[in-house]
Amino acid sequence: MANKIQKPRGTMDIFPEDVALWHKIEEKARDVASRFGFGEIRTPTFEDLALFKRGVGEVTDVVQKEMYTLTDKENRVFALRPEGTASVVRAIIENGKTSDAMPLKYYYLINCFRYEKPQAGRSREFFQFGTEMFGAASPAADATVISLAHTLLKELGIKGVKLHINSIGCPECRPNYRQALVDYFSENEEQLCDTCKERLKTNPLRVLDCKSPVCSEIAKGAPNTIDYLCPECNEHFESLKKYLDAMGIDYTVDTRIVRGLDYYTKTVFEFICDGIGAQSTVCGGGRYDGLMKQLDGPALPGIGFGMGLTRVILAMKESGCADIPQNNPVLYIAPLGNEAVSKALSIVAQLRDKGIYAECDICARSLKAQMKYADKIGADYTLIIGDSELENGRAQLKNMKKSEQREIEIDNIYNALTEEN
Ligand code: ATP
Ligand code: MG
Repeated sequence: MANKIQKPRGTMDIFPEDVALWHKIEEKARDVASRFGFGEIRTPTFEDLALFKRGVGEVTDVVQKEMYTLTDKENRVFALRPEGTASVVRAIIENGKTSDAMPLKYYYLINCFRYEKPQAGRSREFFQFGTEMFGAASPAADATVISLAHTLLKELGIKGVKLHINSIGCPECRPNYRQALVDYFSENEEQLCDTCKERLKTNPLRVLDCKSPVCSEIAKGAPNTIDYLCPECNEHFESLKKYLDAMGIDYTVDTRIVRGLDYYTKTVFEFICDGIGAQSTVCGGGRYDGLMKQLDGPALPGIGFGMGLTRVILAMKESGCADIPQNNPVLYIAPLGNEAVSKALSIVAQLRDKGIYAECDICARSLKAQMKYADKIGADYTLIIGDSELENGRAQLKNMKKSEQREIEIDNIYNALTEEN
């Protein structure tokens, strides 16, 4: 016998009872984004592999280890998007949006793909709400984007989420810091994990991000980026803190935050939710002033974030705000016989046209089984239509919660239901 076909490792099947929560999050994300003047952008699920190599960075874990690449029939190499930013930058440049009024403000709700070790809060296909703002260099823009994420998490009812901010400088001051880091880690090189020994040569900032206990212990004593900032980056960071204070957004300066992707400059931030396991970063973002130029566009400063929706769900469950009321019908009609089925179908069709969720039996069940089903789906009202009801046009409308019933005119059902509520 052939092997049973299963979903790919690290992917999810999501059924209606759970999708309801996804809808709530997506609706809230769209609602909050629009209050900040962000419009939705949609880009392809796959892109030229070169886009991510250049946009995300050759020496990042994402590009080196986590890409899903594919070759088409004409030997072109594509990758399933591992994140959203590079595609948005490409789309802006390709569609000439750089001559629109600044800043450009876009958001997206997308699936991303990374070949990672699946665990709670980490999957191979995952979902992100992301925002991108281009053309605003001021720290007020950083504060605005952070405020957007903050507002969404707050309005979803998530408690105990903390904002951590840091600045990792710019091409001006980064080399000094990088050297200080290399000097520091080189003294402990022997103890670092193999990946970090490699990172020390290619991307030393990433050693700070390593999850291995030994590396993270060593990282605790490493020099801090904010002690190496040039005057401009320093002023930017100070203003950001002032603006966050003014907006009433609490934060902690966390010098360990460097972010995984290469393109960040100045501000980096994470919203962290303890209590949802090791993958506690529900949202990560920062500024990327060099990215647009790196992808052959004009030198437009950028800032944005990616919010992992599975982690948002874990955080909502932890905060006890993940319960969504079931979608239950206002009316369930139990017809007895063919004639009654026609009548029932015509009534539910009319009610649905008027915006009411109505159901009737479509399985030719016995009356007893129908009533059991009506109870199970939580119908507010039921109406039984048999021969005598058909004949005199009247039937009993039963309020299921109150166990009360009253006689109504079948053709007047819409008014009867609206009178009841
Ligand atoms: P992590 O530190 O968890 O690996 P990252 O730095 O790789 O995250 P980003 O590329 O900044 O993450 O992505 C933004 C957000 O997307 C993360 O903060 C997280 O919430 C979510 N995310 C990233 N990778 C995954 C994944 N494999 N599964 C689920 N969510 C993810
Ligand atoms: Mg990662």
